Amino acid sequence: MSQQIVENIIRIKERITIACENSYRDPKDVKLLLATKTVSEEYIEIALNAGHILIAENKVQELKEKFEKLKKIPHTNHFIGHLQSNKIKDLIKYNVTCIQSLDRLSLAEKLHQHLEKEGRVLDVLIQVNTSFEDSKFGMSPRGVIELVRQVAQFDTIKIKGLMTIGLLSTDNEKVRRCFRLLKDIQKNIEVQQIPNVQMIELSMGMSGDLEIAVEEGATIVRVGTAIFGQRSTPNSFYWNEGN
Ligand SMILES: *Cc1c(COP(=O)(O)O)cnc(C)c1O
Repeated sequence: MSQQIVENIIRIKERITIACENSYRDPKDVKLLLATKTVSEEYIEIALNAGHILIAENKVQELKEKFEKLKKIPHTNHFIGHLQSNKIKDLIKYNVTCIQSLDRLSLAEKLHQHLEKEGRVLDVLIQVNTSFEDSKFGMSPRGVIELVRQVAQFDTIKIKGLMTIGLLSTDNEKVRRCFRLLKDIQKNIEVQQIPNVQMIELSMGMSGDLEIAVEEGATIVRVGTAIFGQRSTPNSFYWNEGN
């Protein structure tokens, strides 16, 4: 299994490189984030030791459980899961440097309160629901600019870009539409030059659709299954309300 993980990472990097070549992009501009939900510390460690240092969890509980074992290995932790306000206090204890799933003002308010208390700042991406599916979190595309303006008022929160989960579909054109929409929203926000807002990162693309995302401008692709194998827990457990 450990050899398999290392080989899978190499294969994903090749996929990213080919997608970059096809769209005249520099592979250096696309970061590979390992989505490590349900993956054991042992397997994550193998990936980290192979030099792949950007990882992310979906649940604060899992982040907490793995923290002790992983903290000795240098790595960067993002958070990509649906976040309940009452978990924020816990979340910011575990060296997360970016919350990619900020999708509502109430969450930003709570985050600001805790960060201010600790005298810290934190990077965030605004999660956008580009597939218009009820089952996924994220601000609706129409509401994003307003949310960005509001969140930008909190000096502890540094907006660095946008994140989305594309439509899970075998129709590539429908998937592409999601990523293109995120890129369009990014451009719209950029031209407004809102203070305290940067639009550097576009986090989009997963195991099944990363090529499309790279072609449409992704700077971070988030890959789990294609590296660590199938999960026993369905995505709905992570992506729906009531978790
Ligand atoms: C699980 C997850 C991923 C990775 O999905 P795979 O299909 O396993 O590559 C990416 N983004 C988010 C938000 C996730 O929850």
